[in-house]
Amino acid sequence: MASKLQIDVGGVPIGGGVPVAVQTMTKTETANLAATMDQIRTVADAGADIVRVAVPREQDAEALKTIVASSPIPVVADIHFNHTLALKAIEAGAHCVRLNPGNIGGPEKVAEVIALAKRTGTPLRVGVNSGSLPKHLRQLEYDNPVEALVTAAIETVALMEQLDFQNFKVSMKSTSVPNTIASNRMLSERIPYPLHLGVTEAGTKWSGSLKSAVGLGTLLADGIGDTIRISLSTFHAEEEVKVAWEILKALKLRERGPVLIACPTCGRLQFDMDTVVAEVERRLEAYEDPVEVSVLGCAVNGIGEARHADFGITGAKDMGMIYSKGEPLKKVPTEQLVDELFKEIDRYYAAGRKVQRDEGAAAEARAWLAENEDATAMTPERIASLEAAAAESDATADAVLDSMLEPAGAVGPGPGGSAAVELDESVSPVAGRRFSRG
Ligand code: SF4
Repeated sequence: MASKLQIDVGGVPIGGGVPVAVQTMTKTETANLAATMDQIRTVADAGADIVRVAVPREQDAEALKTIVASSPIPVVADIHFNHTLALKAIEAGAHCVRLNPGNIGGPEKVAEVIALAKRTGTPLRVGVNSGSLPKHLRQLEYDNPVEALVTAAIETVALMEQLDFQNFKVSMKSTSVPNTIASNRMLSERIPYPLHLGVTEAGTKWSGSLKSAVGLGTLLADGIGDTIRISLSTFHAEEEVKVAWEILKALKLRERGPVLIACPTCGRLQFDMDTVVAEVERRLEAYEDPVEVSVLGCAVNGIGEARHADFGITGAKDMGMIYSKGEPLKKVPTEQLVDELFKEIDRYYAAGRKVQRDEGAAAEARAWLAENEDATAMTPERIASLEAAAAESDATADAVLDSMLEPAGAVGPGPGGSAAVELDESVSPVAGRRFSRG
């Protein structure tokens, strides 16, 4: 469930059921103002709602004043080990300060930071990392890493409440995807504060994106998480923002920019679709509207599953076709498909989002489609739709599904005599297999 409480980070609300905020972190030396501001503008253009900058030295805290004043999006100061820098960051006007109370020198120093944050109205992000849990939780961490993370987070929350401070969000960072999922599920049921989600040190663009999509996507699909950061080993922070947006778009949690649909290709493909899809994706980055564009590798299916797309192309060896909402617009030589597609998209916007249709060209394209379509071909799309239709009409499938959906405790011994096992999330981090909460 979304958090009950909400905080405001420089005008961006977080928690309480508002759309999940996207954040990232600059990779530059913060005190290098030109480089840092350049990267902040780049990530803001890519769709970051909030940006975090590392503040490990005095000069970074000093640079914060200028950064906060010039940044197009709110700035979070990332502080470790040094409460004086946290105080300076707040004084510099940071819209939020991230710190782990366990590593900045004891409760008195935390209290000092909180006292100033209260006076200035600055929210904090407080949290714990799986790699640096307090000593008294080490044995628990060994026995049950999820319980240890959650306990550490709850102790941090208790400290904030003892200091009469509620203006914060909480993060629990782990490199383990199952532990990230299980601990955030557990914590979301125990505290009302907004949650910052991330899989720490997720990895390269490829593996890190996948780990984050699985970990964060699972939680977000459950309605857990109020702001996300994708951690990738790349100097291009905007890549983290793009991945975050793809996750939110895939879950239909937020809309931003075009949606590209592309078939997986198969042996029917007759043109260089890899290049075409990459080019379409690249050019679509210039558009902000959530226009849906489809790329099909062949016309054998007709327009098929791309019928709902605002625009699409389907190619063959020499000739291809552009269509809109399932209706052919025109046929064009394959090498001009991408250029012509974007001409049509631009004409659509120039006409106030009205598709411009030339009936002569459309009739020609329709004839081309009829020649190339093969209603009897067993394509991946047709096999999938046949399977779906078969499953729907199959009463046995329903019965099997019903038995699978029964609560674990209600299921008796199976044919092999083994009783259903009830999974306990609090003990096993990989046991949390529920997809949604009732
Ligand atoms: S049959 Fe389907 S998957 Fe294969 S190339 Fe054609 S559209 Fe793509």
